[in-house]
Amino acid sequence: TTIAEVTKQAFDRIEALEPKVDAFLAMNKEQAMQQAEEMDKVPLAERGPLFGLPIGVKDNIVTEGLETTASSRILEGFNPIYNATVVEKLKAAGMITVGKLNMDEFAMGSSNENSYYKKTKNPWNLETVPGGSSGGSAAAVAAGEVPFTLGSDTGGSIRQPASFCGVVGMKPTYGRVSRFGLIAFASSLDQIGPVTRTVKDNALLLQAISGHDERDSTSADIEVPNFAEALTGDIQGLRIGVPKEYFAEGVSEAAKQAVRDALQVLEEKGATWEEISLPHSKYALATYYLLASSEASSNLSRFDGIRYGYRTQKAGNLLEFYMNTRSEGFGDEVKRRIMLGTYALSSGYYEAYYKKAQKVRTLIKQDFDKAFENYDVIIGPTTPTPAFKIGEIIDDPLTMYANDILTIPVNLAGVPAISVPCGFENGLPLGLQIIGKYFDEETVYRVADVFE
Ligand code: GLN
Repeated sequence: TTIAEVTKQAFDRIEALEPKVDAFLAMNKEQAMQQAEEMDKVPLAERGPLFGLPIGVKDNIVTEGLETTASSRILEGFNPIYNATVVEKLKAAGMITVGKLNMDEFAMGSSNENSYYKKTKNPWNLETVPGGSSGGSAAAVAAGEVPFTLGSDTGGSIRQPASFCGVVGMKPTYGRVSRFGLIAFASSLDQIGPVTRTVKDNALLLQAISGHDERDSTSADIEVPNFAEALTGDIQGLRIGVPKEYFAEGVSEAAKQAVRDALQVLEEKGATWEEISLPHSKYALATYYLLASSEASSNLSRFDGIRYGYRTQKAGNLLEFYMNTRSEGFGDEVKRRIMLGTYALSSGYYEAYYKKAQKVRTLIKQDFDKAFENYDVIIGPTTPTPAFKIGEIIDDPLTMYANDILTIPVNLAGVPAISVPCGFENGLPLGLQIIGKYFDEETVYRVADVFE
């Protein structure tokens, strides 16, 4: 088979499944087919492991000439004039971008219900959500539309949908992957990462997108290991910490049991585990929603109706122009975060809220530093429950936020973490979360690989 044939098959599959799954926004068919034909001319000896394979990209990652909206009305019709660094890296690896994936607007949400354009369904049960915000990325892989996608994770947005959809999703160490060309939500937390069917694919894709980028001052100038080589199957002597806070009230009995079963498998392979405490976990949710909203309120100030995308038709003067563009262009959840963040950063409240949250963030990070003095990885459930029904909690933001209680501490600390499928509840997948030391994705992958 040729690359052109494989690419064509990917589009056929996507076209057949999209009426049910609704994972994709803009499609890149013409360009992708052209690229595939060019690539068929490249000699076999010059092709890497990902050469010619189709990939979908979350819609908050900018793609030159391909509409990029972050699922917001305010970016409707926005055609970027450059590629994100990760998209350039996919091209360099020979991967073919087939289209853009639905998400919660500006990556704010846990169910994909906050997209302005459509609601993606969970392929395991079309009445349930795929999770979010990278719900399109996880659903597309779960449905078999594409074997690889990119997502982004600010507070769980790769791992939670991966868990809900029964696929593998990795949030790399903060700084491992360039954020240049990622539409910013909360810059100190955002990271791009791979969503795939297998751990090996995930390792290969992370390798392809990692590395220092002079256009992102927070990208780390440290060597990128060969992640796939870390999949040795050998976890003899591995020390695992299991935080008791991750087995608290609200976590379903099935989710707890799935983790216990996984720990037993790891023990049989020569690992040991102990219960530990991450005592500041209980403050993570409040800390995250304060800091992420503060950063978002600042990052989203650039959407003024002049530079990109949607602009209002109703304005008598400049102030009205800004106000109407933003009122019409942003959805409810985005407005909620902008209001919360602006409030937290305003003079008089800054010390009480933002600064306090920064201090608690340091305590949360120190919990992890301390745990990693004695353990190689930390393991728990990815989410408290499997996927919930579409419409079930969308009107209750606090219940929605609570979904991220087990994923958010990882972003606040900046450490890497993966979700791999580990069981089922009511016919819906559950995820196992494996958290690693800074820049030690190798160990995370080695442990994840045990469950392949
Ligand atoms: N659900 C979380 C939020 O709404 C996480 C989002 C994310 O990781 N992008 O902020």
